[in-house]
Amino acid sequence: MKKYRAIFFDWDGTAVLSRRAPVDAAVAAMAPLLDAGVKLAVISGTAYDRIAAGQLHTHFTEKQLENLYLGLGRGAFNYAFSRGEPYVFADRLPDDSTRGAIHRTAFDIHMELLDRYGLNTDIVFGRPNYCKIDLAAGIDRGDNLFMQAGETEALQRTLRSLGIGGLRCLIDMAKAAGKAHGLAVSPTCDGKYLEVGISDKSDNVDGILKRIMGSDGIAAEDCCFLGDEFIALEEGIYGSDSFMLTPLTASADFFDVSDLPGTRPPRVSVLHGGVDRFLSFLREQAAPEKAR
Ligand SMILES: [Mg+2]
Repeated sequence: MKKYRAIFFDWDGTAVLSRRAPVDAAVAAMAPLLDAGVKLAVISGTAYDRIAAGQLHTHFTEKQLENLYLGLGRGAFNYAFSRGEPYVFADRLPDDSTRGAIHRTAFDIHMELLDRYGLNTDIVFGRPNYCKIDLAAGIDRGDNLFMQAGETEALQRTLRSLGIGGLRCLIDMAKAAGKAHGLAVSPTCDGKYLEVGISDKSDNVDGILKRIMGSDGIAAEDCCFLGDEFIALEEGIYGSDSFMLTPLTASADFFDVSDLPGTRPPRVSVLHGGVDRFLSFLREQAAPEKAR
């Protein structure tokens, strides 16, 4: 099998089953690769304190950490490590006026959905460079407090019943609302949230790839990208891990470990097998080549 010089991967659902799950198995699979000089990059929409409770670096040696990167916060922060401690080497934090424009954009979307379609939403304003619009806030789900299986389908049914033409319509609405405030927004939408900000996972992977291209001469062809959310939510709108596919990363290899049926972007190979398959992929990458 091809051995990669850099492996980029999603965290929740790919490296660990959930945020509360122990990280030991992931750490054990990552460490030999870091020892061998393979670059590993965790790409996640979450913040550093939500990955291994903010203690990921304490599981590795200083030397191992020299080969570890994290791209977090939906493009907002890229981390490397120095003397065993994480530091941000690139960020996409907005200045005050841009932050104001992001907030106004989110509020305009909220009002358009409310006034035109009667859909009431909640907005989370506290994220570093984006707002999170909860599309399912006003939906009575009876005893089911959390949308889970089939949540995208449920949301799409709700949108259609209100006369909103699916996720594409929300994405277009967000882009138009951003434009009115002078913003080129990168909206994303899953089964519950419409997120509107100035960056996404593409900024994370491009930033980290550029850094290791410069420091180690690693090319996109030397890299692979793994995740569990590539599947299309509706035609032409792929899951959050598909944002790792950019013009810069396009010649890398992409693998989906999700077991779900669905359409993936054309460049993505399906591995199936979830977290276990991902960890065995890392172990195969670390195993010495068999003598012929
Ligand atoms: Mg995931």
